[in-house]
Order: sequence, then structure tokens, then C-alpha cells
Amino acid sequence: MTATAPITQDVLTLPRKLREDGKMNLVGLTRPALQEALVAAGTPERQGKMRMNQVWQWIYQKGVRDFDLMTNLAKPYRTLLAENFVVEVPEIVSKQVSDDGTRKYLVRIAGGHEVETVYIPEEDRGTLCVSSQVGCTLTCSFCHTGTQKLVRNLTPGEIVGQILLARDDLGEWPEPGRNPKDETRLLSNIVLMGMGEPLYNFEAVRDAMKIAMDPEGISLSRRRITLSTSGVVPEIARTAEEIGCMLAISFHATTDEVRDRLVPINKKWNIAELLDSLRAYPKLSNSERITFEYVMLQGVNDSDEDARRLIKLIEGIPAKINLIPFNEWPGAPYKRSSNNRIRAFADIIYKAGYASPIRTPRGEDIMAACGQLKSASERARNARRAEKPAAE
Ligand code: SAH
Ligand code: SF4
Repeated sequence: MTATAPITQDVLTLPRKLREDGKMNLVGLTRPALQEALVAAGTPERQGKMRMNQVWQWIYQKGVRDFDLMTNLAKPYRTLLAENFVVEVPEIVSKQVSDDGTRKYLVRIAGGHEVETVYIPEEDRGTLCVSSQVGCTLTCSFCHTGTQKLVRNLTPGEIVGQILLARDDLGEWPEPGRNPKDETRLLSNIVLMGMGEPLYNFEAVRDAMKIAMDPEGISLSRRRITLSTSGVVPEIARTAEEIGCMLAISFHATTDEVRDRLVPINKKWNIAELLDSLRAYPKLSNSERITFEYVMLQGVNDSDEDARRLIKLIEGIPAKINLIPFNEWPGAPYKRSSNNRIRAFADIIYKAGYASPIRTPRGEDIMAACGQLKSASERARNARRAEKPAAE
């Protein structure tokens, strides 16, 4: 096989930036885009599908990054691949491990930006909390990420790359011929609950989750993937149709007046509009129920009346209510509700027939809990600014 001219951007359906050395990263390409890229680089058209399948399995099933280790490909073909492509995942800059086993990775992506990815081990599962954006355009008043401006959307490769690098760190690449069962996997679930609003980066999140679900790769069931949104109503039906994963809604309030303050996107799509879009979700996506996330803020949204209003609002929607004790961060304008208050609230909901688990904060000692993520570089920048005398 002879090497052909280097591939150019415009032959690909999916616009991809080439690296400075002219090579393209294969991680994050959908199957058709991967096939197209391989053919554009000189793979004979009629072999395209087979080669795509082989390379796909090396990357996502076996965790191989070096073309030379792809032993079912002929040597000259491996060379051709190495001349045109790389298999690259974002770099782990640092890793912190909490007393409770939670691991927080600071991950560097192209351009020197950083995001955080959190691994949470539990008895019956291991959940990876994945980021979809650097920062967030939204400004929920209780969320640390919301105080950091949006820097940019992550690419599909950077989103799926977080899964691959966590598997590297956990040492979870199967031995040849042995695929892990869901129940025994270290990384068995994914939640899109890291930094960013996933539905404001829809296509990249969709492509990355399709790769995560692909049976010849990471092969997680769509029921083990939960996308959390603050309520980008027009994209909710699309999530059901094009991704089909489980859905969590950052609900957090029972009146528009309070939700406008906590989750400002509510001014664009209010509670009634949000609930309408949710009623259609389970049928569209064939999933059993929707998770309502509800952060418990002392004296703001935690009264018995709120609990009763919540039940009324969600009537008819198969739901589970996740109560999240507010995780504090430096300068946060709220306090966590007391344990008694949270329990009383949970009780009312439970008696109305809904599961109402109180989420135990994980990794608090390393600022890895929900809503505490913010890139370390941004934190350091702010700290330096605060330390410097004004005249400097
Ligand atoms: N942007 C998406 C996903 C990321 S946030 C969303 O808003 O849904 C993941 C969850 O953590 C959301 O329910 C969010 O509202 C919640 N959260 C944010 N800040 C928090 C904090 N300080 N304490 C507890 N939960 C928080
Ligand atoms: Fe963004 Fe979600 Fe935080 Fe709101 S809660 S600011 S949508 S990351």
C-alpha cells in the first residue's frame, strides 16, 4: 500500500482541526467519520469498513494508542496510519484522591485549558462524572462552575477521552477475549454532571455518548448514562431521539420566582414549559423515569410547602427525586439545609410515592462534589489576583 497525500479538512463530514504536525486525532470520530478519514488517508475504499472496525476495537475495546501494537494490521498499513493519525486522549495534569476513594482528575485539553473529571466508587457501581464544557454560559447562583465564564465547548474526543483516561488510571482494559460484565466494572456508569451544560454542546455530547454506548467498544448500556441539564427545553426531545440516555433535570425550585433566581435559564423556559417537555421524554427515549435533582438551600427552597408543591408539579411524570445537600464553596451565597430539614422534606416526597434519596456528598475534601468544580487554573488565577497588592 502506498501513502497518499495527507488528508485535508474538507474531505470529512465532521470538521476536525488537524494538529500542528498535520495529523488527525482519531478519538471521538463517529464510525462513518472514522471510515472516511481512513479512506482519505489511502485505505482502499472496499476495505474501509473492515479497517474502521479493526481500528475502532483497538481504540475503544482494548485501549491501544500505538498503531504499532495493532497487530492484526499489516506493518505497512500501520505505518500509513502513524503517518496520518494519532490516538490521543487529554492529559491528566494531576489526580487527587479523597478519603472516601473519590478521584478527581485535572485534565488538560488542547489550547492549555483545563477541566475536571471525577470518579466515584460505590458498592454496586463506579460512576464517572464527565465535563462537557470549560466553564459554563449559565450562571446558576449556587454553582461554582457558574462563576467561571464559558471558555469553550469540548470536542467529542475530549469528552470520550475523559472516559478513556479514567480507564487508564483504573487499569480497566480487558484481557484479550474477556469483556467485563456491567456489574463488576470499575467504571460502570457515566453522568454528564461535570463542568458545563451538556445540551449547549449537543452534537459533541451525542457523538461521544454514542461511542460510549457502542457494543464494540466501551459498551455501556444507555441506562447507565445520565445526562443532567438545567433545562434547555428545545434540546430535550432531541436528547431522547438522538441519544436515548437517562435524563436528570436540575429542578431546584417549585415557583418560577425562586427558580428564576437559582437557575436563570428558567427566565427563558419556565417551569411549565420544562415540565411539558419532560412529560414526553420517557416515551420518546423508552426510559423508565426522570431524575429530578433538588439542591437543598437553607430557607430558600426547603420548606414543607416546597415539598408539597414539587409533588403537585411532577404529577404524572415517572420520577425519582435526588436531594442534594448544598455543597459549599468559598464565597457561596447560600447555606446547606439542616439534616433534619432535608429528612422532613424527603419524607413528604417519599410518602407521596416517589423515591427520594438524599445524596451523600462525595469527595468534599478535594472539592470534587457536585457544583464545586471549577478549573484549578482559574482558581489559582483568582487566588493570585487576590494576593497581589493593587499597585502591581
Ligand atoms: N449543567 C448541568 C450539569 C452539571 S451540574 C446541570 O446544571 O444540570 C450537576 C448537578 O449539580 C446539577 O443538578 C447542579 O444543579 C448541581 N449543583 C451545582 N452546584 C451545586 C452545589 N454547590 N451543591 C450541590 N449541587 C450543586
Ligand atoms: Fe452551568 Fe449546571 Fe452550574 Fe448551572 S448548575 S451554572 S448549568 S454547570
